Amino acid sequence: MESLKQRILKDGVIIDGNILKVDSFLNHQIDPRLAFDIGKEFYNRFKNARVDKILTVETSGIAFAVCTGYNFNVPVVFAKKYNGLNMSPEVYRSKIRSYTKQTDYIISVSKEYLSSNENILIIDDFLANGQAVLGLIDIANQAKCNITGVGIVIEKGFQQGGQILRNLGIRLESLAVIESFNNNKIIFRED
Ligand code: 5GP
Repeated sequence: MESLKQRILKDGVIIDGNILKVDSFLNHQIDPRLAFDIGKEFYNRFKNARVDKILTVETSGIAFAVCTGYNFNVPVVFAKKYNGLNMSPEVYRSKIRSYTKQTDYIISVSKEYLSSNENILIIDDFLANGQAVLGLIDIANQAKCNITGVGIVIEKGFQQGGQILRNLGIRLESLAVIESFNNNKIIFRED
């Protein structure tokens, strides 16, 4: 998605050589026009597939999931982040390793909001090692949903998440794939 790539080049900041900070338009302050364009782009890429519901994880995925769900006219469910490990029968849970914080946390979704055989499109802001998306897939599997695909705003192609998902046979659409951070320069993978 060319406009997204241009915005990343203009306003993205590389931290510690491997984290892309996009707080000025994606992760803290959000550019609503870009967010709506992202939702439209995910819609165009997945419109021929079956999508009954969008699934994401709080917080950063929500804006893009909502913009996508608006285009599909389907509900958007976000997994909540938990610290506790106590199991309740009312929710599906999965444990995730946070790439940016280097800690484990639990995500959970109320059983009420995922039904068996629903076709789920997973949306998230970043794909790095794939932990967050794998947690969402785990939850969708517990609920016996079908996974239509995964839509990612920014994939860090030099980390393993993309390969893991493709190896699982999951359709992955990333709107911008970063090949490398070369001497503090962002290099995108060619489409
Ligand atoms: P993963 O679970 O794929 O390893 O990492 C994905 C999650 O980590 C994303 O939801 C995002 O919150 C965070 N993340 C990973 N890499 C980056 C990065 O370079 N920049 C930002 N802003 N977040 C990242």
